[in-house]
Amino acid sequence: MTTPFSYEALPMRVIFGAGQREAIAAEVEQLGLRRVMVLSTPRGRDLAQRVADLLGPVAVGIFDGARMHVPVETAAAAGDAVNVVGADGCVAIGGGSTIGLGKALALRNGLPIIAVPTTYAGSEMTPVWGLTENSRKQTGRDIRVLPRSVIYDPELTVALPQNVSGTSGLNAIAHAVEALYAPDRSPIMSLLAEDGVRSLARSLPRVVADGSDLDARSDALRGAWFCGACLGATTMGLHHKICHVLGGTFDLPHAETHAVVLPYVAAMRLAEEPDAAAAMRRALETDSPAQALADLAAWVGAPTSLAELGLQEADLDVVVEAVLASQYSKPVAKGELETLLRRALHGGPDG
Ligand code: NAD
Repeated sequence: MTTPFSYEALPMRVIFGAGQREAIAAEVEQLGLRRVMVLSTPRGRDLAQRVADLLGPVAVGIFDGARMHVPVETAAAAGDAVNVVGADGCVAIGGGSTIGLGKALALRNGLPIIAVPTTYAGSEMTPVWGLTENSRKQTGRDIRVLPRSVIYDPELTVALPQNVSGTSGLNAIAHAVEALYAPDRSPIMSLLAEDGVRSLARSLPRVVADGSDLDARSDALRGAWFCGACLGATTMGLHHKICHVLGGTFDLPHAETHAVVLPYVAAMRLAEEPDAAAAMRRALETDSPAQALADLAAWVGAPTSLAELGLQEADLDVVVEAVLASQYSKPVAKGELETLLRRALHGGPDG
């Protein structure tokens, strides 16, 4: 019998396919935008310029100052830039940092966003915003920050360095894993989660072997879309809470942190959640999904310990306290959390 559930579809249009970045101008027109600000990171400036060229006079500016975890100062500077040119919408082209900046503008200035993701992080599919102030990352859900249109063009991911592709893909898989045991899971999201994991697990090794393999890039981006949709529709659990603390308080890099932590949390949670474990076994075609995630992380060359990312033994108490202090769906015992984090710190066995 199907377990009772409720599911709310999120209103957005998705356009997917090689070369579909050409559709950005049509989406801008469809939304009735006349003065668009293009957002990027400093590294993504060239891409932002190409979008501005595509849009012609409708593009009234480029703000290329997006940074990881959206510092409030960055959001304020972007807000000022938007006000100066009188923008009525944004095209955010880049990874989660750029799309996160677009969301901050949507929250502050009410600007609609067209998102053009170039990583597998999945922010484009969620109504979740984040802002970081004084080393504390605050997040919230607000439908106003959900992009109106999302354009997935696998050709834009070809330049994503292979190591970043690997960790970013594991970041996406983490969304799906936690959606499978989320308190508000639903059959449709569980299907997307399983298929998203399947897509990424089969494509990431190919992407890392040959970053220009467009077929593999397309499969990975499709998986990232599905996993991002899971993130947008369910409440995330222990894994995301740990990564949130590590990123917000210790400034650890987002995707790499997810890649390190995922096999440890998966080993713990999948042992308690038989349906989620069964879906992961099917998706990864293995009896040991947590081990398969560790193997995949090793295959794509992801870091294998939090120590490699700069965390120190002395930081663990702060992480444990912060994780335990926050509200999330299924609490964890302090001792278990300490053991998990110590293993992740040193890169010990995931069991
Ligand atoms: P990122 O956006 O910081 O990108 C990483 C680096 O890769 C940047 O320097 C960027 O310029 C570069 N890059 C991106 N795409 C590229 C490409 N195709 N080719 C070459 N270089 C490219 O990293 P991310 O992992 O995508 O996003 C992380 C951020 O997103 C974090 O702040 C995280 O909290 C947030 N996030 C939010 C949500 C949400 O739902 N709100 C979901 C996922 C991630």
